[in-house]
Amino acid sequence: MTKNREKTNRRNFLAAAPATLTAVAIASAQDRSASDIGPENKLMKDASPNVFQPPPTDHGEAPGFWNSFSVAHRRIQDGGWSRQVTVEEFPISKDIAGVNMRLTAGGIRELHWHAAAEWALMLSGKARITAIDNDGRTFVQDVGPDDLWFFPTGTPHSIQGLAPDGAEFVLVFDDGKFSEGNTTLLSDWTRHTPPEVLAKNWGVKETALEPVYHVPPNGRYIFQAPVPGPLEQDQHAASGPAGLSPVAFHFAMSKMAPTKRSKSGEVRVVDARNFPASAGIAAAHVIVKPGGLRELHWHQNADEWQYYIQGKGRMTVFFNGSKARTADFNAGDVGYVPRTLGHYVENTGDTDLIFLEMFKSDRFQELSLSEWVTHTPPELITQHVGIGKDVLDAIPKGRPEIVPA
Ligand code: MN
Ligand code: MN
Repeated sequence: MTKNREKTNRRNFLAAAPATLTAVAIASAQDRSASDIGPENKLMKDASPNVFQPPPTDHGEAPGFWNSFSVAHRRIQDGGWSRQVTVEEFPISKDIAGVNMRLTAGGIRELHWHAAAEWALMLSGKARITAIDNDGRTFVQDVGPDDLWFFPTGTPHSIQGLAPDGAEFVLVFDDGKFSEGNTTLLSDWTRHTPPEVLAKNWGVKETALEPVYHVPPNGRYIFQAPVPGPLEQDQHAASGPAGLSPVAFHFAMSKMAPTKRSKSGEVRVVDARNFPASAGIAAAHVIVKPGGLRELHWHQNADEWQYYIQGKGRMTVFFNGSKARTADFNAGDVGYVPRTLGHYVENTGDTDLIFLEMFKSDRFQELSLSEWVTHTPPELITQHVGIGKDVLDAIPKGRPEIVPA
């Protein structure tokens, strides 16, 4: 009852207001009600205009779906730093955790593995990545801007910044509880194995292993080293008689044509169909030009974790039960949309808006509102939302992804 009355009152207000009040009177009443005379974190407020002054369509209580690497603790060590947004800081982010990392030229994220799968996008600079595949064969590659990599669970790997200025990248893990503080480090494991066991294991003298026990008690994690030599030299020195791995753990998204392109932007979809190694994480790299909108849509199969690379945008997530909430996103921010919830992302700035949509799945999957209403009997749509056939006919039918198409 109460809910119905609220709905009716709201509709009545919206319909009746222009007839009973002048535009000036409405504006001044709104100004008075929305005035803000208390303390304010001005930088946060200015970065979030749609939070401070929500669109009138926002309604009800919704879980937080905004976070930012820019407010995350940086673990700084000689050779670089890391920061993370996991379910600890971002409770809605159950399926995915994100890490942002910088390595200097020569700086090493030490040899390690973990229980989560790791997907990465190189943001800036160059790095050398190493791994071994499930048959123990060597993988060594150099990656640059807009290149990706994927390491499955338990696959040991390393990352090292190259000349001239190392690298910065974002890492995406298929578990919100993942933490960089809980990975199996080479130096940490060996340091905590009895020396006589390690000597027996490798068939070497115990005295030769003394340096292993001089490693810091928590392992090295990130540390400075000289810039490595040529790639071919490292590949040759590492591979031995088994040769290099046939598995491509890296993917040159920089050389990929857009999956969808319109006059307002482009989308590149990378999942197990075109990047077979990436069996458990799917991605869409999205560019929305000024004035453009990543159309109203939803994903049938997985939660969406977003990372904002450039520009300004806003997203409204519709949480069902008349709950809708809008948040603003800037470079370095993280967003999250639970699976199947409807949402859009609009460019609110004057430069290209670039962001990642990440999914814990081997397939990128989506449907759009336009697609739905244009592939359903038209009378049915008219009966629901009242729009006529001429309006329906104007709606895009081919899911352009970024509109105006
Ligand atoms: Mn890793
Ligand atoms: Mn989406």
